[in-house]
Amino acid sequence: MAFKTDIEIAREAKKKPIMEIGAKLGISAEHLLPYGHDKAKVSQEFIKSLEGKKDGKLVLVTAINPTPAGEGKTTTTVGLGDGLNRIGKKAVICIREASLGPNFGMKGGAAGGGMAQVVPMEEMNLHFTGDFHAITSAHNLLSAMIDNHIYWGNELNIDARRIVWRRVMDMNDRALRDIVVNLGGVSNGFPRQTGFDITVASEVMAILCLSNDLEDLQKRLGDIVVAYTRDKKPIYCRDIKADGAMTVLLKDAMQPNLVQTLENNPAFIHGGPFANIAHGCNSVIATKTALKLGEYVVTEAGFGADLGAEKFFDIKCRKAGLKPSAAVIVATVRAMKMNGGVAKADLGTENVEAVKKGCPNLGRHIANVKSFGVPVVVAINHFYSDTDVEIAAVKAYVAEQGAEAILCKHWAQGSAGIEELAKKVVSLAESGAANFAPLYPDEMPLFQKVETIAKRIYHADEVLADKSIRDQLKAWEAAGYGNLPICMAKTQYSFTTDPNVRGAPTGHSVPVREVRLSAGAGFIVVICGEIMTMPGLPKVPSAEVIRLNEAGHVEGLF
Ligand code: ADP
Ligand code: MG
Repeated sequence: MAFKTDIEIAREAKKKPIMEIGAKLGISAEHLLPYGHDKAKVSQEFIKSLEGKKDGKLVLVTAINPTPAGEGKTTTTVGLGDGLNRIGKKAVICIREASLGPNFGMKGGAAGGGMAQVVPMEEMNLHFTGDFHAITSAHNLLSAMIDNHIYWGNELNIDARRIVWRRVMDMNDRALRDIVVNLGGVSNGFPRQTGFDITVASEVMAILCLSNDLEDLQKRLGDIVVAYTRDKKPIYCRDIKADGAMTVLLKDAMQPNLVQTLENNPAFIHGGPFANIAHGCNSVIATKTALKLGEYVVTEAGFGADLGAEKFFDIKCRKAGLKPSAAVIVATVRAMKMNGGVAKADLGTENVEAVKKGCPNLGRHIANVKSFGVPVVVAINHFYSDTDVEIAAVKAYVAEQGAEAILCKHWAQGSAGIEELAKKVVSLAESGAANFAPLYPDEMPLFQKVETIAKRIYHADEVLADKSIRDQLKAWEAAGYGNLPICMAKTQYSFTTDPNVRGAPTGHSVPVREVRLSAGAGFIVVICGEIMTMPGLPKVPSAEVIRLNEAGHVEGLF
């Protein structure tokens, strides 16, 4: 069967002027700051004016451990938003902005797919409203000010070997991972080693996404630990006096971006932190604004539920005081088969036994999400190769786990294909069954928090960490950071730290390689395994075929 590509569908969208979309939410024109005809930022004053209004219901879309077969979380988030609007609920979608760098490496957009997309998708995947450029500038202003401080005499006694603030760029460029700066003699400063991360890995990104308003943003920026002195005392961004100017650079980037779906329903696309060394969710300000404007807010967390949902609950919801009413776990028959041991090339062939064998991965995610006190429904994102018996096998398995799996055809049909899920989500959310609580209390010692996540969510037996790591955690506790939540950075492909172990393994160990303090964002990053903060391009990057065609359209991006 031949299908239109995502970009072909997106180009045919019958978009409404963004002011009309804003009007649907009761945002008057004066409070929408238009970026062209189909994108707008929502004003600070309007957001402030919503204080005290009742909140709508928050629905999380999460998934099983991703496989190369693809799950479709964003597609389902957008589809469900359209589906809820279709059944008469005022629903708003909240998703992340896309990073520019990966677009030139491998194909793949971040705006959903098929008939469940947000538009304008090209712009969303390119410069969009410039938020990431603003974040890059704010981050690098601080970097420049640190080196400048040392150049002019280093009054703060920064140990140039202990500067932890690097530079960022929104590009996949492995050449910049480790570099030497300040070469060239006396007038250029003191040579030292540093490097670049990709913008989405910047702590400024995580801070922007967790801040409630500009005041909170500036406070958190000030809290960033940028370096240590020779006797290991922390130097903060505030000491460098960069927080004010950084806030100025981020003033517009803090305002949520409003766009629309193919079905002209409102979607906020705002912020995009990494899902490994950061928490992987769209901004708190967008989610909170959406909750004031809609009866339902559908949002997505990156990666599988073991990382994405756990951080959504334990970092974003805990810190922002959000109380989710329901969660949708996206699964596909293909991914169940891959978890059951089938190779990617053989996914087109019916294999009920493999589906059944792969289902325990889904089962564990269901139990995990329920353990946060959030009611769950499974969305089977339908692919054309799925057979009826395979679908029936997933449904039967999920029923045994005390949940329901609903077949969803939003990718092919838009909102018409996802009505049943929308109705189920409404009944779960309205049942009042949700009784959200994070996994661990703020007061729990840091290492015990890591163990709690590893044992309860990953079903590991133990966490392995050198004395130096445990001592570091204790030192942070002594310095007053003991109440922070944990941000786990591990492979998204497995409950273990080995990407090749699929299914629902038990009894494994979780080795901790490194811990990092994100004092401004407000979490402790626990790194298990290799985590790349500056990706590289593949041998044949898609940038080689991206071009403007005769009609002036972008080609090769998707
Ligand atoms: P995630 O958010 O989980 O990373 P996306 O929703 O971005 O996944 O989807 C990844 C890709 O898979 C997109 O290009 C999308 O068009 C495609 N896709 C999603 N669902 C389906 C489906 N049911 N059939 C075919 N392709 C799909
Ligand atoms: Mg996604």
